[in-house]
Amino acid sequence: MSEKAGKVTMEKLVSLCQRRGFVFPSSDIYGGLSGCWDYGPAGIELKRNVKEAWWRSIVQERDDVVGIDSSILMNPKVWEASGHVAGFSDPLVECKNCHLRWRADQLTENKCPACGGELTEPRQFNLMFKTFIGPVEEAAATVYLRPETAQGIFVNFMNIVNTSRKRLPFGVAQIGKSFRNEITTGNFIFRSREFEQMEMEFFVKPGTDGQWLDYWVQERFNWYVKLGIKKDNLRRREHGQEELAHYARGCFDIEYLFPMGWSELEGIANRCDFDLKQHMTHSGKSLEYYDDETKEHYLPYIIEPSAGVDRSVLAILCDAYDEETVNDELRVVFHFHPDLAPVKVAVLPLSRKENLASLAKEVYGVLRPCFATQYDDTQAIGRRYRRQDELGTPYCVTIDFASLEDNMATIRERDSMNQIRVPIPALKDTLLAKLAGEDLFILPEGGKIWKQE
Ligand code: ATP
Repeated sequence: MSEKAGKVTMEKLVSLCQRRGFVFPSSDIYGGLSGCWDYGPAGIELKRNVKEAWWRSIVQERDDVVGIDSSILMNPKVWEASGHVAGFSDPLVECKNCHLRWRADQLTENKCPACGGELTEPRQFNLMFKTFIGPVEEAAATVYLRPETAQGIFVNFMNIVNTSRKRLPFGVAQIGKSFRNEITTGNFIFRSREFEQMEMEFFVKPGTDGQWLDYWVQERFNWYVKLGIKKDNLRRREHGQEELAHYARGCFDIEYLFPMGWSELEGIANRCDFDLKQHMTHSGKSLEYYDDETKEHYLPYIIEPSAGVDRSVLAILCDAYDEETVNDELRVVFHFHPDLAPVKVAVLPLSRKENLASLAKEVYGVLRPCFATQYDDTQAIGRRYRRQDELGTPYCVTIDFASLEDNMATIRERDSMNQIRVPIPALKDTLLAKLAGEDLFILPEGGKIWKQE
């Protein structure tokens, strides 16, 4: 019945994301703002589901990680201590002809990619955004928008040790916005100037850092696989010596095969005691941990898995995207993992006739408190199925005229397009089971197979 059509491209994804309310350009009616994006009604649900899945696996399901939500604006001394004021920069070159700016380390030739013009010598360009605290624009009041969430964790290390009663090894997790004045943005939401990070700093006893790095690389890789990303599209890449930050003992990237090629999704680094040492020196406050087993004071080492929310969303969109030809018509579908799908169930009355609509609304009212449910009574049923496929909705529930007689409804599965018919009182539990992974053809009492593609 169905056969595979084209592959995902960034153009197709951008246009579908706009059409179905996943992602819009920021300030769209004013022509946008470079490197900034807005998440629409479908996009925000997908993004929240990604963040919830991360929080569940990193914080909720473990007893050795706690959460935090630190401020975006921090004391500017934080960024001196962390090395960002002095060193968080990329080499910038400018075209002498068209004046476009480029990241020198991303160019393959020493000429302007836009016009072929001659380029200036590279200069270091700091990626931190500056702003001002208070009404006077003077240097003393300059603060930065954080370029990563991690520093909010390091500076709270002692607060957490003193209040959470956690002993090593333990981690602190944070999800939040970060800002970088990237020289070149692009590839949709892959590299933007305002983005969200999911970071966790795992504090360990020196000497155990190597095994914890391996552990977290494996854990984080498995997380993407569990969310349904195809293993073939994921890989680990170990940083070579020349790529490592001077303080780091080891670093792995988890990469995804995006339409533009293999690119970083997440970095997992062994940061040793660099961050705590820096903050201890600059603040003059001891950040040493007292180990009551060995009766020693020392600075813990840190293993940091640092992931981008937006890059995860992009990888999930790319991986779930599919085109097939069904009965000579193109079907575009997102095969999202049910936990990630923005809408879990759509309730579709076959017609708007009063008696059908009231039964469908009743069903909608029962399902809505249990999972993200949409009600759609516009256009022909086929069109509505296609729309839900493009939103990646795993199940559609159709109420038809026979439902008025037999009190049953049809469940249509997104991936197989197979259908079953089940008694309306059993709908909620059946859908809960299917969303948790049960085979469609395992039927509740009184249920039957309706359509097999
Ligand atoms: P890149 O080399 O791609 O610039 P990075 O190595 O500087 O990334 P990190 O500082 O390690 O990135 O940040 C951790 C994660 O935050 C990245 O793996 C990525 O998922 C996300 N991230 C970093 N910069 C951006 C950005 N400009 N837009 C979207 N996500 C980003």
